[in-house]
Amino acid sequence: RPATTAWAYHLDGFVPIAEATVPVTTQGLHYGTGVFEGIRAHVVPGRPELAVFRLRDHLERFARSCRLLRIDLPHDVDELMALVVELLSRNGSASDTYIRPLAYKYRLLPGTRPGVSLRGNSDALSVIAFALGDYSPTAGVRCSISSWTRPTGRSLPVRAKATGAYLNNALAVDEARAAGYDDAILLNERGGVAEASTANVFAVRGEELLTPPPDADILEGITRDTVRVLAAELGLGYAERPLQPADLLLADEVFLTGTGLGVTPVVEIAGRDVGDGEPGPVTTGLRRRYHDLVRGSDDRHEHWITRVRVP
Ligand code: PMP
Repeated sequence: RPATTAWAYHLDGFVPIAEATVPVTTQGLHYGTGVFEGIRAHVVPGRPELAVFRLRDHLERFARSCRLLRIDLPHDVDELMALVVELLSRNGSASDTYIRPLAYKYRLLPGTRPGVSLRGNSDALSVIAFALGDYSPTAGVRCSISSWTRPTGRSLPVRAKATGAYLNNALAVDEARAAGYDDAILLNERGGVAEASTANVFAVRGEELLTPPPDADILEGITRDTVRVLAAELGLGYAERPLQPADLLLADEVFLTGTGLGVTPVVEIAGRDVGDGEPGPVTTGLRRRYHDLVRGSDDRHEHWITRVRVP
C-alpha cells in the first residue's frame, strides 16, 4: 500500500492528510458526481527535483471534466498548477509521486431538496499526493477480454474522467484478477476494442502503431498522445482506427499506455500469446523512450515537464 505524504489540499487550503475528510452526506459519494485526474511526478536522477509530466494537459482535462459536471473550480489551470507544485514541495518527498486532484459535488445548498441533480450542491476540491514507484512489469501483463462492456458515450461521459463511470472499470478489473489476469481489455458496445481498465490499448503491426479512435468510447489518454509524438520521432507509423479483438491476437505486439502503467507490454490476451509471448522490440523501444522522457532527460520535450525543487 502506498504511503500517503503529509499534506493534502482540501476545500480551501493545505491540511494534514488525516484532516482531509468529507461528511457522509457528500453528494459525490452517493452518485459518483465527481471528476479526477491521475498525474505522475518522477525523481530526476542526481537532482533534488521532481519532474511532473504534462501537468498542464492533465489539469486542462480536469477543468474540462469539471465543466461537464457543472463543478465550479475555485481556481483556473495556472492556479491549479501552482497548487500542485506547492503540495509537492510541502511534502518534500524524494520519491516518485502520484498526484490525484479530485473535484466533487459536496454539500446541499440552503433551501435545496436532496436529490441526484448536478445543481443545488456546493463543489469541493481536494488534491492528494502519495509515493508511488513504477509498477509496470518489464515482462509485460496478461489481459482478459472483459465480459463488462465499456459504456457508450451516449450513456456516460466516457471522454471525461468522471468518478461514477469508474464503477465499470472497477468491475472489469475485479473480474480479470479473479480469473488470474493482471488487467482487462474492454470492448465497446459495437464489439470493438475500447481500452484497458485504466490504460489505452495499442497494436503493433510491423512498423505501425494502431489504436482505437475517440469514437470507440475511449478516454483520450495523455500517454496515448505522448506515444503518438514519440512514434513520429522514432519513424513509426501511427493510425487511429477501429480494432477488433482478433486484431490484437493478429498483431506482432500489443501494449498499454497510461499515466500509471507508462508503456507496458501485453504478452497474453484471454489465454493466447501475443506475438511470441514476449515483449517485442517496438514496445520495448517506446517504453525506454517514455521512461527517460518522464524523468526529464529529453530536451525536446522540456515543455511537458514541470520541475519542482524538493527539499
Ligand atoms: N483510460 C482510462 C479509463 C483511464 O483511467 C486512463 C488513466 N487516466 C487512461 C485510459 C490513460 O490515460 P492517461 O494516459 O491520460 O493516463
